[in-house]
Amino acid sequence: MSNPLATAVEDFMTGLINRNPAEYEFHQAVREVVQSVMPLVLDRQAYRDAQILERMTEPDRIIIFRVTWETDDGRIRANRAWRVQFNNSIGPYKGGLRFHPSVTQSILKFLGFEQVFKNSLTSLPMGGAKGGANFNPKGKSDREVMRFCQSLMTELHRHIGKDTDIPAGDIGVGAREISYLFGQFKRLENVFTGVLTGKGLEFGGSLLRKEATGYGCVYFCENMFQHRGDSIAGKTVSVSGSGNVALYAVEKAIELGAKVVTLSDSGGFIHDPDGINADKLAFVKELKEVRRGRISAYADQFSGATFHPDQRPWAVPVEVALPCATQNEISEAEARTLLANGVICVSEGANMPTELAGVHAFVDAGILYGPGKAANAGGVAVSGLEQSQNSARLSWSREEVDERLQRIMASIHQRCVTHGSSQHGVDYVKGSNIGGFIKVADAMLAHGAV
Ligand code: NDP
Repeated sequence: MSNPLATAVEDFMTGLINRNPAEYEFHQAVREVVQSVMPLVLDRQAYRDAQILERMTEPDRIIIFRVTWETDDGRIRANRAWRVQFNNSIGPYKGGLRFHPSVTQSILKFLGFEQVFKNSLTSLPMGGAKGGANFNPKGKSDREVMRFCQSLMTELHRHIGKDTDIPAGDIGVGAREISYLFGQFKRLENVFTGVLTGKGLEFGGSLLRKEATGYGCVYFCENMFQHRGDSIAGKTVSVSGSGNVALYAVEKAIELGAKVVTLSDSGGFIHDPDGINADKLAFVKELKEVRRGRISAYADQFSGATFHPDQRPWAVPVEVALPCATQNEISEAEARTLLANGVICVSEGANMPTELAGVHAFVDAGILYGPGKAANAGGVAVSGLEQSQNSARLSWSREEVDERLQRIMASIHQRCVTHGSSQHGVDYVKGSNIGGFIKVADAMLAHGAV
C-alpha cells in the first residue's frame, strides 16, 4: 500500500524539479524541509488552499547582473552576480553575499530558501535572501577586490535598503569586502544607513558580529548537550574550515573546556592530537585573517600536528563534529564513519554541510544533530541586533550582545524541542523546519494572495 505522506512529498518534488531543472542543491534543501512540514500541510486545508508550499519555494524575485571590473594590470574581467530575494513575509530581506568561483543560482537559491526558516527561528523580524558572485577573491589584490565590490554595488544598490534588503557576509565576503561595499553604497545613495551588516566597528558594526556564528554554533551544541544532562566540556571535537565561522567555533569550544583537534581549508585538513589551544588559535587567526595563508602552515609550525592534503577531517575519531566550511562537505559515507567512530553530537556552523542521506543517518542514530538553519543562526541574529543598534544610533557592549546571542540560541533550541519531539527525544531537523515554517506560512496566509 502506498504511503500518502511519501506520495505527497514525491509529487511535490516532481513539480519543483520540473520547474527548477538541474538546481540540485536547491532540490536538496527543499526536500529536507518538505519531508518535515508535509504532515502539517496535509493537516491544514488553509495551507493547501493558499498553495503555501508552492509559494514558499518560489523566490519573490532573482536579480542577475554582470559585474565588470579591471585587474591591476589593466585587463577587463566580467563575473556574474545574483541577489535572490526569497521571502519578505515577516521582515525585510536579510542574508549574506558569497564570493566563490563555485557560486551558481542553485546554490544561492538553496541558501536563500534556508535563510527564510533560519531568520524566522531567531524570532527577529527578518525575511530571507542570499546573493553573491562567481568571483574568486583568492589571489586578488586589495585594489582588485575593491574595484569588484564597487562595480557590484553599482548595480546592487538599486535593489537594497535598510527597510528593503540588508545583505551581510558569507564565504569570501568578510570585513574587507563589506567595507568596500558599504563605501560604494554610501557614495551612490548619499545616505549613511545600516544597509549592510558585519560593518566595521568605526561605522556602525556590532561588537561580537564576527564571532557570532561560531559562538552561536557552540552555544547551540551546548544547549543540545544540556537538554540531555551532558556538556561539551571534556569532549574531543573536530572542526572543518578555518574561516570566520570555524575560528570562532574553535574559540568558544576551547573556552567551554572542549579539545579541538582538527581544522581544514580547501587544500586539506590538519590533525593536532594535543588539541588547539589559545596560542595555536592566535597563530591560525593571524595566518587566515591577516596573511590569508593556507592551513597546511599549522603543521609546519606545531610539532605533533599533521597535514592531510585533499582530505576532509571526518575519519578522525571524535565525540563532537562542527562542520564549518561549506555545503555537502559530509557525505553519507563520512556521516557513517563519524557514527562508527562514536560521534554523539554534530552542530552545523556551515549551511547544509551534510548530504541528505547523511542527515537521515544522524537522525536515525538518535545522536544530537543540530542542522545549520538552527545551529548557525547566531550570525544573522547578531546582524539583526546590529540593525537594531543602527536604528537606535547606539552601541551595546560585548557582554550585552553576547547575552542576547545566548538567549536567542536558547530560544531557537527550545523551539526545536517544542516542534521536534520524536522517538529518540528531539528531532532537531523536524523541530527547526516546522518551527521556522509556521510563522512564515501564517504571515503569508494573513497577507492574502500576494
Ligand atoms: P569563510 O570564507 O570565512 O571561510 C570558509 C572556509 O571554508 C575556508 O576555510 C575555506 O577554505 C573553506 N571552504 C570553502 N569552500 C570550500 C570547499 N568547496 N571545499 C573545502 N573547503 C572550503 O566563510 P564563513 O566562515 O563565513 O562561512 C563558512 C560556512 O558558514 C558557509 O557554509 C556559510 O554559508 C556558513 N555561514 C556563515 C555565516 C557567517 O556569519 N559568516 C552565517 C551562517 C552560516 P579556503 O580558504 O581554502 O577556500
